[in-house]
Formats: sequence, structure tokens, C-alpha cells
Amino acid sequence: MTEHDTSPQRPSTPDRINPDGSTTIRVKRACNGCGTLLGDLAALDVDEHGNLTDVRTECAHCRPLVALEAAGCKTWQVTVRSIGDVDDQLDRLGIFAKGYWEYVDGKTRVVGLRVGSGEERVVARFGDWLVLGLDGRFTVHSAPAAAVVSAEATR
Ligand SMILES: [Zn+2]
Repeated sequence: MTEHDTSPQRPSTPDRINPDGSTTIRVKRACNGCGTLLGDLAALDVDEHGNLTDVRTECAHCRPLVALEAAGCKTWQVTVRSIGDVDDQLDRLGIFAKGYWEYVDGKTRVVGLRVGSGEERVVARFGDWLVLGLDGRFTVHSAPAAAVVSAEATR
């Protein structure tokens, strides 16, 4: 990953090549929303139970999503692993959704989730966030390009 959206309050120590040819690195914290590297790992990145803390507000890409959640919007990240659960949850809300198919590398395969029908429909590709606004409409918060690459690598 070459594009870093370094958080202003978090230092980011570059890798150092030593005289013997080895490299010294500082472990980096990735955003728990999109995987973008934010800077050096800090003690506050782990809570008292050993779980990673939510640092999405440090991420320029995820900050708008956190604001939407705080305002009461419902959000789901659509991934290869979550698509079934997201589809089930939308079903329980009475919202039509189905896999979105595309021709990729000689095969037709599911690349995301299509929500709604007609003019109102939206497509959340794997890695994207589906947002149910307070007005009852769906929008898509696209994954940053680097996150899409990592989502495809895990298929
Ligand atoms: Zn993020």
C-alpha cells in the first residue's frame, strides 16, 4: 500500500534500512473500517480486553460514515463474508436485495449486492458500505481503491 492517509494526531515512522541490509519497521495501525494505514500503532489501539479500538474517526475515508452512524443511519459493509447476513437483514426490513453479477476474468460471478429496484436501486460492490439514510433511501459509500484490491485478494 503506497497511499497513506496519515492521521494528524498519529505519527508515522518510515521504515529504516540498516547498515547490514536489514529493515527496521514500526508496526502500523490500519483503519478497522477500510484497512487504510493510519500511522504508528499506539497503546490506545488495544482496549483493556485486548480488542482493537475503533479508529475510523481518524480515517478521512471512514469519518463521513461514522458521522452518518452517529446521526442514526444504518450501515453495512458488503464483503464476500458479510453479503449473506446483509441480505438477511435487508430481507427482515422488507427490502429487496440480490447478488450483483458481472463478467470477470472469463466467469460470471457475484461482485456485490444490488439493493432495491428500478431507478432507486443501488449497487454496493464488495468492500463498499451500504447506507440506509434517515429518509429511507440507500446510498453507497465506496471503498477506497486499496481496500478493493485487498477484498479481491481474499476471494
Ligand atoms: Zn477507514
